[in-house]
Amino acid sequence: MSNIDAAEIKKFDEHVNSWWNENGDLKTLHQINPLRLAFIESFVELKNKKIIDVGCGGGILTEALAKKGAYITGIDLSEPSLEAARIHAKENHLTIDYQAITAEDFAQNHTEHFDIITCMEMLEHVPDPASIINACASMLKPGGFIFFSTINRNPLAYAHAIIGAEYVLKLLPKGTHDYSKFIRPSELAQWARESNLSLIKMRGINYHLGNKSYSLSDDIKVNYLMCCQKEA
Ligand code: SAH
Repeated sequence: MSNIDAAEIKKFDEHVNSWWNENGDLKTLHQINPLRLAFIESFVELKNKKIIDVGCGGGILTEALAKKGAYITGIDLSEPSLEAARIHAKENHLTIDYQAITAEDFAQNHTEHFDIITCMEMLEHVPDPASIINACASMLKPGGFIFFSTINRNPLAYAHAIIGAEYVLKLLPKGTHDYSKFIRPSELAQWARESNLSLIKMRGINYHLGNKSYSLSDDIKVNYLMCCQKEA
């Protein structure tokens, strides 16, 4: 059975011209990107590391990692998004290996290949997140670090991530997220454990209405990041 929701991929196909518009439909990803990078860099050095960005989309995080001197691969299933990513990388003289392949298939030939894996804002768009986590874990070298981000599932997360972000503040296009696919930190941690990944740290990403900005915090009730390490 394939672990792909075609309707989800199509949503991102349709955003193809938005990836690199910092004021466009995907502006939130640009706004939170420095925070994601800071979270990652608080655990690992990126220079000369082999990294894969799973569900890389148009390459917002992928490029930031490339600029830090990593050897980076980005995989996704939205061909138009990958094409936007390739064009943008070329324009910016960045070498990034973008491929249209599932994490599960890519893992077949890349056992213990990567020092670091990132998989951000992606797990809440797939039918079986545990299968992605398992594939990622197998691609990670023992002792390597993996970084996830997703959205918590509770009434407050529904209010913020769907009603607030999509309908009231219009930070994201309507229909971007499906509440039932949101993931509780305990579920993510459990799937990680089942793949021999130890939980190192969780942090929240909070939105501040006043100055329309985001910050890292210890409040993981809505958006959160997770750092795990593969057992050595
Ligand atoms: N990680 C990027 C993009 C997040 S948007 C960032 O945070 O900046 C979610 C991405 O996941 C989209 O590009 C979508 O095409 C991709 N995606 C959804 N389901 C997928 C799957 N089964 N395999 C690979 N990529 C998938």
